[in-house]
Amino acid sequence: MPSCRCSCPYPNFPGRIIAWLCSFNVWYQIFATVYLGFLSEFPTVVNVAVLVVWNGIWLLTITSLLSAAFTDPVAIDPRYRMPEEFVEVPVEERTKKFFKRLSRYAVSKPDIQFQMTDHSSREFFYPRYCIPCKIFKPPRAHHCRQCQRCIPRMDHHCPVIATCVHSHNHKFFLNFLFWASFLCVYAATLITRTLFEIVDLDVEFLIAMEQFDLVMWLITFSGWTNAVICAIALIGFQIYLWSMLVSNQTTLESNDNKVKPDYSLGSRVKNIETVMGYNKLLWFVPYQNTPTDGFTYPVAASSETNPDDMCECEYETEEDSCADDSDNEYAHDV
Ligand SMILES: [Zn+2]
Ligand SMILES: [Zn+2]
Repeated sequence: MPSCRCSCPYPNFPGRIIAWLCSFNVWYQIFATVYLGFLSEFPTVVNVAVLVVWNGIWLLTITSLLSAAFTDPVAIDPRYRMPEEFVEVPVEERTKKFFKRLSRYAVSKPDIQFQMTDHSSREFFYPRYCIPCKIFKPPRAHHCRQCQRCIPRMDHHCPVIATCVHSHNHKFFLNFLFWASFLCVYAATLITRTLFEIVDLDVEFLIAMEQFDLVMWLITFSGWTNAVICAIALIGFQIYLWSMLVSNQTTLESNDNKVKPDYSLGSRVKNIETVMGYNKLLWFVPYQNTPTDGFTYPVAASSETNPDDMCECEYETEEDSCADDSDNEYAHDV
């Protein structure tokens, strides 16, 4: 899908957000009204209670979705800014001397993160940097081509919210998945019995239905199908994201084979708290309480690296230097 090259902060807004709002939420309002108004066998008072709960979940879903979509990633702290002398070097001149100079500069800065190449034949550490953003990448930050900037603690770019899932909206995104799937399960559970009892009792009943009643039944049936499919997809995606959260990994980190720091704090609850907040009562409330500045992440003692060691072991001989003159794989964005 072609990505917008404009400089607006939400390149895909508003089309996709509006489309998803319609499909996920407005649809369920219509669905609820049709089902409760025409097919439900519950007494009126129960129908009203069902509708109140329904709208409560709907509000939590919408609030979570909009909070995830409109919570901007924090601006990259100035301490990660890359000196112009490195930014201005043309791509073809980013040779081993460039990397050597860059690494020596980066080693003197405690906040700059190094990583290992994925060259099996020529492994070396180098500072993570981004030329388009003119920065050394903060720990766990990555450059997003869709958002056209570096994103602190980037998890992945999500087309549904038209922005990245990052350090400050990850909780809202998980809240959205939770409440959207809850809404689907709630809808499907409520309606299953009523919907299929009609068919079970007498299949010909449907054929003999008044045209209006048949339309109501088909709307409800399509909503039920939608709810079941969405519930399976959303729950599956949540299990995937939570399986990484309990070990304090992002999607990008879990799919990256490079040697990387271990951010696990040693307990599942502590790892979850880094995103969902220390107050467990607020974990599923779309309220911002993620305890992070977006740049500072404790690393397990076993995976701490000493930049001085990296520098010595990588650059003591020319052969061990960063890259040969023709190797510019990392020249653009690493
Ligand atoms: Zn960048
Ligand atoms: Zn993005």
